[in-house]
Amino acid sequence: MERQYDLIIVGAGPAGMSASIYASRAGLKTAMLEMGAPGGKLIKTAEISNWPGIKSTKGMQLASEMFEHSTAFGSEYVYGNVTEIKDKEPYKQIVLEDGTLYEARAVIVASGTQERMLKIPGEIENVGRGVSYCAVCDGAFFKEKEIVVIGGGNSALEEAEYLTQFAKKVSIVIRRDQFRADMILQQRIKENDKIEVIAHHVPIQIFDSEGKVSGIELQNVLTKETMKKECAGIFPYIGLDPCTQFLTNLPVLDTHGYMIVDENCETACKGIYGAGDVRVKPLRQVVTAVSDGAIAAQHAFHQIKGI
Ligand code: NAP
Repeated sequence: MERQYDLIIVGAGPAGMSASIYASRAGLKTAMLEMGAPGGKLIKTAEISNWPGIKSTKGMQLASEMFEHSTAFGSEYVYGNVTEIKDKEPYKQIVLEDGTLYEARAVIVASGTQERMLKIPGEIENVGRGVSYCAVCDGAFFKEKEIVVIGGGNSALEEAEYLTQFAKKVSIVIRRDQFRADMILQQRIKENDKIEVIAHHVPIQIFDSEGKVSGIELQNVLTKETMKKECAGIFPYIGLDPCTQFLTNLPVLDTHGYMIVDENCETACKGIYGAGDVRVKPLRQVVTAVSDGAIAAQHAFHQIKGI
């Protein structure tokens, strides 16, 4: 038996939760499908300091408040892993991993991105034994230990700074001699005595001993020389890939797997929208994600009601 809605939202991060607020307030029968905890990247972010009106808040706090808001007007929150979306114009079918079928007049995909892996020997087998992609979740396991953070973007620098409250020392490894992160973050890590920067290096192997990470081998990209660095924790923050594996049957993705949308956040398939980090866009931020969610939900409402 199909579950029928006006609007299905895939993903309950900031974009999905914002869409949920706008759609349910407009009176659409709405459900958010999510395979993890609500909040998306927010729940993995220690501090949010660019949400207008609040100078600084914890990611988990903002996520929890947004979630309460997103279900306050009747929108349902449903656990589910989406494996396919079928465009049966004018209806969309949303297929879950367990075979459950949802049907809706419109779908907003707000499934976000996932952390890229280093793809080097020793990485996968040491996830949870010292290799982690979430400083907020695992940082406290590394009290007075040495940690290596890979990457020079906003994520790497923010999380490296967060980790200094636990670690004895945090080494940031970047493959060039420049960061991608915002200047304010670069300045803060420069002033932090617990942080060192290792430029022109890439990781090539992770070592373990007695079931725990014991070190990492780095290679100088200029000289090709290698060095071994002892550490207990390794946090790769080398960028993100879109969570769009369930959309490959539809003509909605660019060559990198991001959703191509118009100014209404609608794809080439009428009634299928992309909102937040999952879509092609110049700035991936909480504020731009919630904006996308609002625009997509409002347009879906107009379409469904034939306005
Ligand atoms: P990012 O900005 O794409 O940075 C990725 C970093 O990893 C770069 O320094 C890159 O080096 C490095 N890198 C990539 N592949 C590598 C490899 N194989 N080996 C070693 N290093 C590698 O990724 P991000 O920091 O995850 O951020 C993603 C998006 O979210 C960005 O748009 C960012 O602005 C946004 N974001 C914003 C905030 C905020 O505003 N507070 C916080 C987090 C994220 P190169 O520079 O040499 O390419």
